[in-house]
Parts: sequence; structure tokens; C-alpha cells
Amino acid sequence: MIISTFLPFLMKKIYSTLVITLFALAIATATQPRKVLVIGIDGARFDALQTAKTPNIDALLENAFYTFDSWHLDITVSGPSWSSIMTGVYHQKHGVTNNSYSGSNYFDYPYFPTRAKEYKPNLYCVQIAEWAPMSDDVYNDGWNLKLKVPDGQGGPTENAAVTQLANPNLDVLFVYFDAVDLAGHASGFNPSNPAYISAIEKTDGHLGGVLNALYSRPNYANEDWLILITTDHGGIGTGHGGNSNQERHIWWIASGNNISPRKLENRPDPGSYQISGVNQPLRRQSPVQADIAVTALHHLLYDLNFKPDTVKAWNLDGISWLDSIYATSPTRELSNSIGISSYPIPAHTGLVFDFNRSLEAVTHFELLDLSGRICRQEDLLSGSTRFEMSVANLEKGMYLARFNSEKGSAVLKVVVD
Ligand SMILES: [Zn+2]
Repeated sequence: MIISTFLPFLMKKIYSTLVITLFALAIATATQPRKVLVIGIDGARFDALQTAKTPNIDALLENAFYTFDSWHLDITVSGPSWSSIMTGVYHQKHGVTNNSYSGSNYFDYPYFPTRAKEYKPNLYCVQIAEWAPMSDDVYNDGWNLKLKVPDGQGGPTENAAVTQLANPNLDVLFVYFDAVDLAGHASGFNPSNPAYISAIEKTDGHLGGVLNALYSRPNYANEDWLILITTDHGGIGTGHGGNSNQERHIWWIASGNNISPRKLENRPDPGSYQISGVNQPLRRQSPVQADIAVTALHHLLYDLNFKPDTVKAWNLDGISWLDSIYATSPTRELSNSIGISSYPIPAHTGLVFDFNRSLEAVTHFELLDLSGRICRQEDLLSGSTRFEMSVANLEKGMYLARFNSEKGSAVLKVVVD
């Protein structure tokens, strides 16, 4: 361990009486790795989804937090909608207003895998998409692999997903089906159109194949998958893009092994940015598109013990529903496996981390700002009981101090003033 040169100037006795654990937050160690599967079904109206025979989605709903009363708050076109679903912000921020994707501001508002990698750069993330703009080059950052599959067929998409799900290292998979939207454009977005219903039922079959592959993962029992499924818009006649209820009334599903089953019903329409604005308290009564990215991000970064929607630098519109979604279980109990406290709060010149018991293994320390940038890092030797660092050259603000070793991990918020 490196002892900082400022230490002699610290009044150690005074500080040691000021050990404050207010900001000492904890995280679990040796928990199941958290992974995310997002399934997108383009153009599936809420009422048609309920009319169609969808045994695979029905089975999922038995163990899901879900609603058929989600509302589209923005432009009911695929480009802007999928952008909101993947970035967690609406078009005012991500900049996409049509299917040309011109004007996109993904640099400031990236897809959620890119955000997750700010904290966990080794996540392995794959996108499988049928629809050309999305599977082409509109967004490549954050994906370790992007697979383009034939549009509207479903089978090749399912097969590609099955292949990817056989990879034990897979952390995030986004699978996108287009056939339902194509059927709606061809013959009508409505629950009494047999061709539209049939497209939903076929897609449900492919979704079943994807889920079987997920459940067949050799290590599935030791993984914590959050499955999120939604659509980008409804439709009216043979189109969409307007503000009718049929285009704006959508659905939202979260499922997985650690889910507390719950159906949200009769959620009021909170309005739309395309009409006269969104009523925020109403919008929080039911999950919406931008909440997919934020909830996924929260799940992936859950052990870091902060909510993505509170990170100012990310400026997200979506909120995380994990507090409602997660079942209460021992695996969700937080523990600080290393046992760390830090002081003083706030820190002016130096920061001290005390370990309740000496480190059992070499522990990697990182100090991150809230945009995820690593400001300082160091390997701490096994046996250390304390770590001290100067904060003299750091800007004022909140930071995350992260400790990782094979024996455990912890994250603490620290404040530099
Ligand atoms: Zn369409």
C-alpha cells in the first residue's frame, strides 16, 4: 500500500473520532451475476397482444412485473422510440425524430450498454436486429457484437439469439423482431386483423425459442437475468406516427427469477411531448419506454448501489422500477464484505479509508467521478488496514470509491469539498 505524503499533516486522533459511516454504503459480494435480455417487438398494439394466443409471453407474465397500460410519451415512430428505449431519454435529448436517425446525439445520450460499461467495461453485449437502420451503423458503440438478420422472418433472429445465449460470458442481449409492424403496415394494426394477430403469434413462438435458450444456459441457476420486453408504438389503420390512443397505448414487461409478480392496471394517460406535455406524477404510475434502459442499467450496476436516474451527468428521463420489481430476498440484502468506513466528510485535503479487518487479498481501488471517469486507481496490498489518499487535485463534488478483490467488494460515496 502506498502511504500518501499528506498523512503526517492529518490530525489522526481528531479524525479517528470523527469516523462517520453516513456515506459508507455497501454492496454484496459473490452474488449472482446480473444480466439483461431486452426483447423488442416492433409495432405490437396493446389490445392485439392481449387478443393473440401467446403462450410464451403468458408464461412469462406469471412471473412478471408488467402492464398493458404503458403510454408512449413522444414520437410514435420506430427510430425515436427505440432510441428512447435504449438510451433512457426522449427525443429532446437523443435527437432522433425520424427513421433517418439524422440529428442523433448519442454521444451525450448513449445506449444503456455503453453507460453500463463506464463502470463495468468487461460486460459482453450483443444486439440482434432485423430492421435495417438499427442493424446498420446508427449505433455501434457499446456492442461487442451486432448481428444483422433478415427482416420480418423471425426464425433467423431466434437462431442467432440461441447461438448467442450459449455463450456463458454473455451479459446483455437485445433481440428485435419486426414482423408484427410489417403485418400492421400491410393489412392493418388492429386486433381484428387475422394477419396482424398471426404475426404476433409467430413472434411469440420465436420468443419462446429465445427464452428456452436462456433457461438452458448451463449456469442459468447461478445467474440473475432481468428480461425486459416492450414495443416501440401501436398503430392505427395501416400506419403510425400520430398521437391517437391506438398509437400511444402500449405495454411493458419485466420478468425474471427475482421478480415480485405484479400487474399494473388502469394507469391513466400522462400525455405526450407531441401534444401538450407530460404530467410527470401520472407518468410515474406506470413504466414507460425510457424506463427500459434505466431499469436495465440499474440491474447491471446494482452492486454499485446507486440509481442511474440520480446520476446528474447522465441526465436520464427514464426511471428505474427495480425497487418495485425485485422480490425481497436474502440475495438482495446489502453487505459490505470488506467493511470500510471513510472520513472526513467532506474531504478537503485528504481522505482516509479504514478497513474493519485487514484486507484478505490484493484489492483494486478506483475513485470514479459521477460520469464514471476513473480519477485515481491503485492496488492495495493484502493485509492493509487503512488506505489514505490526497484529494488536493480533485474537483469538488461527489465520487464513488470502489474496492474490488476476489474476497469481496464495496463502493462508498465520498464528497470532496
Ligand atoms: Zn412501422
